[in-house]
Amino acid sequence: MDLRFTAEEEAFRQDVRAFIRDNLDPVTHRKMVEGRIPDREEIVAWQRTLNSRGWATPSWPKSHGGPGFTPVERYIFLDELHQAPAPEPVSFNVSMLGPVVIQYGTPAQQERFLAPTANLDIWWAQGFSEPGAGSDLAALRTSARREGDHYVVSGHKIWQGMAHHADWMFTLVRTDPQAPKKQMGISFLLIDLRLPGVTIRPIITLDERHEVNEVFLDEVRVPVDCLIGEENKGWDVTKFLLSNERTGIARIGMTKHLIRRIKRLAKGDKSVLAKTAALEAELKILEITQLRILDGQRRSTAADPRSSILKLKGVELRQAASELLLSVAGPSALEVQHDDAPLSLDDAGEWIGSVMPNYGILRAASIFGGSSEVQKGILAKTQLGL
Ligand SMILES: Cc1cc2nc3c(=O)[nH]c(=O)nc-3n(C[C@H](O)[C@H](O)[C@H](O)COP(=O)(O)OP(=O)(O)OC[C@H]3O[C@@H](n4cnc5c(N)ncnc54)[C@H](O)[C@@H]3O)c2cc1C
Repeated sequence: MDLRFTAEEEAFRQDVRAFIRDNLDPVTHRKMVEGRIPDREEIVAWQRTLNSRGWATPSWPKSHGGPGFTPVERYIFLDELHQAPAPEPVSFNVSMLGPVVIQYGTPAQQERFLAPTANLDIWWAQGFSEPGAGSDLAALRTSARREGDHYVVSGHKIWQGMAHHADWMFTLVRTDPQAPKKQMGISFLLIDLRLPGVTIRPIITLDERHEVNEVFLDEVRVPVDCLIGEENKGWDVTKFLLSNERTGIARIGMTKHLIRRIKRLAKGDKSVLAKTAALEAELKILEITQLRILDGQRRSTAADPRSSILKLKGVELRQAASELLLSVAGPSALEVQHDDAPLSLDDAGEWIGSVMPNYGILRAASIFGGSSEVQKGILAKTQLGL
């Protein structure tokens, strides 16, 4: 196995870097550097810019409107977005719902949803977790009973990221409460959030951000043509979606970005540089692991349980880098002052007021997308045979 990038892959990296430099709106860039969430309009504009270049849906095949990237090109593309930093294409649309519709949707559903999903004409929310059904997702209780051409849906979802921006939500509902196993009675349903009976309530987190929400569903009438896959077979669709979610989650480029900033602030301090070098060594090992998994994907599209290593270790390293950056920045990290003046790509490393918000937001990364404990459980079972 050759883990070096080819000349073509290196040229592709330069193309992506130049495209970001020439097309990313400076205000959006500044917000990314500061750990602020860009506005809905800014995220939509960037996704459409990527889409006009054919790059908004990195994991989609050409046959369904994607760029047909190889796994390595996909990795390089995301690595450049993370290092810039620039917003990723909205993951609910591009990494979660899109591949599901491609794999399990009917031709009519593909025709209806894929193009607007790529262009962010429809913004999707992920309606999986419920109070009492997070890590143990199959314990979910939101119910859907069939009445003619509709499902009537009632329940309470929680932690829906960006649902206040969303038009639709892909969700899991219980269609057979009598099924012998809890995984067997679940269906995968698409819900238009403008339907009567839907209420979205914000959750403001400790850092005063509005990112997550609760979604209440009260006798919402959802047309049956919004069912993806077969009724009661939604768990298969879910496993497919979650394994896609975890493959892209190492976000090595973001850690590289943090390490660059530590080095600039360290100003030659030997003890900081020694800690940075240790982080860089671990990051290199993770990058090699990522490339090995990508190499495997050239031969097989089956879900790879080793992607749990990427989630687990990727988050640990990002959190460790943000912690080191915080200690190097010292009390000035608390001097958070935001304005929307454009920031050049070269200024990014000096912006100290972003250190604290970035540190705060990364605390949640070991929970969403499957908690660190859950990833360790998967690895113990699948890799260590325990
Ligand atoms: C910022 C953020 C954004 C999110 N966005 C979304 C979203 O868009 N859509 C969505 O549906 N959900 C979303 N979530 C929810 C997320 O998926 C859940 O929080 C996560 O699955 C954990 O579930 P829980 O909160 O119910 O905690 P629990 O499952 O109750 O876990 C509590 C603790 O117990 C541990 N634990 C649980 N089971 C095991 C086990 N088997 N072995 C060892 N330890 C275990 C966990 O690691 C954790 O420390 C988001 C969460 C956050 C924080």
